[in-house]
Amino acid sequence: GSFEPFGLDTRLLRAVARMNFSKPTLVQATAIPLALEGKDILAKARTGSGKTAAYSLPILQGILTKKDNGEPSRVRSIILVPTRELAEQVTGHIEALAEYCTKEIKVLNLAGAASIQQQQPMLAENPDIVIATPSKVISHMEAKNLDVRETLDTLVIDEADLILSYGYDEDLRRMLGFLPKIFQTFLMSATFTKDVDNLKQLVVRNPAVLKL
Ligand code: AMP
Repeated sequence: GSFEPFGLDTRLLRAVARMNFSKPTLVQATAIPLALEGKDILAKARTGSGKTAAYSLPILQGILTKKDNGEPSRVRSIILVPTRELAEQVTGHIEALAEYCTKEIKVLNLAGAASIQQQQPMLAENPDIVIATPSKVISHMEAKNLDVRETLDTLVIDEADLILSYGYDEDLRRMLGFLPKIFQTFLMSATFTKDVDNLKQLVVRNPAVLKL
């Protein structure tokens, strides 16, 4: 198999080729078509499985479609991660996948050391994709720097088991009140614990469950 049959935008296929991804990994081959259909994805996937591109490519595809239809820049996707390190890794990966659509897609990593006040102007520029820990996201929402109630298409909770073990579940619960009624969720976790299952009840409606 290759990436061609997914029907992805040529700008994304060029980036995938440039990154030397000759064929999709198992999680990509399974998740990408379902995600492009709009399904929620609940995937047991660890680092090294190709999980980042598995959620990023469908997200980028959706944003490119909107941009090509003339829709303005808004925060369409929030990617929640447990640590700054992972935020940097995910941001770099998405920027590489978006290498041929940098005009259309702006990515903002909020997981750095900068304060909420320092980050506010960057959010005011309406990045299409925001990557952050749950505490940063809820702080911006409560400070009214970030309102996605009419713009969010996708929410990713990456390394959900670690996010919960770091004690972010209260932030996640508070965040739910700031989200739209309907959005697509990607819940990625190396392990499916009881806590991950509880989180699933909160954010996932009708998932395709991938235990690869
Ligand atoms: P991840 O599981 O998302 O952290 O990805 C682990 C590593 O696999 C990253 O360095 C990716 O660049 C690489 N990778 C992801 N998808 C593919 C693919 N289809 N072919 C080759 N390498 C890949």
